[in-house]
Amino acid sequence: MPSNYDYRKPLLRIFAHFYRPHMKLFLADMFCAAMISGTDLVFPMMTKYTMEKLLPGQLYKFFFIMAGCMVLLYVFRMGFSFFVTYWGHAMGTYIEADMRSDLFNHLQKLPFSYYDNNRTGQIMSRATTDLFEVTELTHHGPEDLFISLLTLGGSFFLISTIRWEMAIVLMILVPIMIAVAIFSRKSLQNASRRVKERTAEIIANLESSVSGVRTAKAFTNEPHEIKKFGVGNENYKNARKAYYKTMAYFQSQIEFMTNFLVVLVIALGGFLIMGSKMTLPDLIACNLFVAAFLQPIRRMQNFVEQFSTGIAGFNRFVEILRIKPEIADSPSARSLDKIRGDVEYKNVTFAYTEDEEAKDHYVLSGVSLSIPAGGTLALVGPSGGGKTTLCHLLPRFYDIHRGSITIDGVDIKDITLDSLRKNIGIVQQEVFLFAGTIRENIAYGRVAASEEEIIAAAMAAEIHEDIMEMPQGYDTVVGERGIKLSGGQKQRISIARIFLKNPPILILDEATSALDSATEFKIQRALEELSRGRTTMVIAHRLSTIRNADQIVVIDGRGIVQQGSHSELMARGGLYAELHAAQFGMMEIAG
Ligand code: ADP
Ligand code: MG
Repeated sequence: MPSNYDYRKPLLRIFAHFYRPHMKLFLADMFCAAMISGTDLVFPMMTKYTMEKLLPGQLYKFFFIMAGCMVLLYVFRMGFSFFVTYWGHAMGTYIEADMRSDLFNHLQKLPFSYYDNNRTGQIMSRATTDLFEVTELTHHGPEDLFISLLTLGGSFFLISTIRWEMAIVLMILVPIMIAVAIFSRKSLQNASRRVKERTAEIIANLESSVSGVRTAKAFTNEPHEIKKFGVGNENYKNARKAYYKTMAYFQSQIEFMTNFLVVLVIALGGFLIMGSKMTLPDLIACNLFVAAFLQPIRRMQNFVEQFSTGIAGFNRFVEILRIKPEIADSPSARSLDKIRGDVEYKNVTFAYTEDEEAKDHYVLSGVSLSIPAGGTLALVGPSGGGKTTLCHLLPRFYDIHRGSITIDGVDIKDITLDSLRKNIGIVQQEVFLFAGTIRENIAYGRVAASEEEIIAAAMAAEIHEDIMEMPQGYDTVVGERGIKLSGGQKQRISIARIFLKNPPILILDEATSALDSATEFKIQRALEELSRGRTTMVIAHRLSTIRNADQIVVIDGRGIVQQGSHSELMARGGLYAELHAAQFGMMEIAG
């Protein structure tokens, strides 16, 4: 699949383009579908011929040859049917896999802001349920449409060669039947959608209640939870009942129409026979054609339903692919290989929204600061002041609105995203461990790292000994189903990742603030080791840990309020001195 496909094209063209790599399979599938409907058309004609020509003459031999031919015909039909069911579905799955891989590649390219604004569950359902519905359409759609049009058209034609009156009556009636069926199918679909919504609600409630069960118990609110769940369960039951009611209407209606059609054909046929305008074998052939109709009619309804849900799912899929990927490299962007690590922010202004109305919502405005290579700059300030935001601008997780950020004098916009991010390491408060072994999780820092390098990194991060005590050492599985690590252990694994990545620029965003003081003290050593020789931006919760920083910048809602070394800021008084006094006082109380 070409990754640079233009998804702004019309929906159906995009849809068609997914068939292109599987064209041979698609054509073979359509051919077999045509053969299936051909067999269905030949059978009534053969029957008619047999009854008209072979039975009256008592041509036993030809009669049995004919019967043999029919069996043979159905043997072929079995083969075609096998092909359509197996390879048709396989083709649908191939296309689904192509679509999903396009989607996944694209999701990897989408910017932070996309993930800020979309819930994980939603994205997951795009990649699974939605695409499954699309697959059903990709396979069954063309085939259902093709087989039913062919069979219906062929039947009408052949019936008209038998008796045109019969053909006309059917030609009027069958489309009405299909329309009615499609119409009541719509209400069935609506009912089914309501059931799905209720089911989703129940699952969401269940998930929230189960994960909050400890809180519920602590507040002795179990009866409240049970009541809440009961309401959802009742809604679900009602939706389900409504669905079955619609289904019952639908099915009995369809059954009636089918039977009506049969009676009508026999009545009309009988009338024509009595008027000597038609023979009995003709009538039997017509009846067989009507029986052959029923499947295409069902396929037609199927198609309409699958088309509406499938296209809706496909539309949601394309919507994501149409979102512009992250900040693409400018044509002049170059890759920085050897970085010294001089970082400079000049007059940087940034807001999370593009909205001009929201001018007051600038998180940072006119921020300037510079860190010489290897230096340490500490960011201090109230929560929500914009410290994390400031750091996230350097690896271009978000683009700034005004001003510039440079590394070694080169604007970060002129550096390829890849080489920019390779040169920056981030340790955050929240550590994400992927499901997998400890080794894999450390190696995430540099996927190609050797065993020795991984162990060296673990030692530098002071996690090696902990790992050796685990049941399977470096092969111990972590994550939801694996061993539970303490916050400090997780943090040291994330530090080991950065040792392995070995970037010249380092961001430490409240790396230890979720930990107790004893653990923090241990990790502090690893962090100091990590920041040696690297340009470091550190956000610290506890001011005691940044006393030795070369520069301290105090930030609040608007931008920088104070800047200087610890002793300068203490001497000057103001926000830093106040924060310091508050923490120092608390420590005294706690102590
Ligand atoms: P700090 O790290 O100093 O606590 P942040 O940089 O996290 O502060 O947040 C600064 C401001 O930006 C806050 O008002 C916060 O609500 C807002 N903010 C942070 N992240 C986002 C985001 N992803 N989308 C929109 N607003 C955000
Ligand atoms: Mg923060």
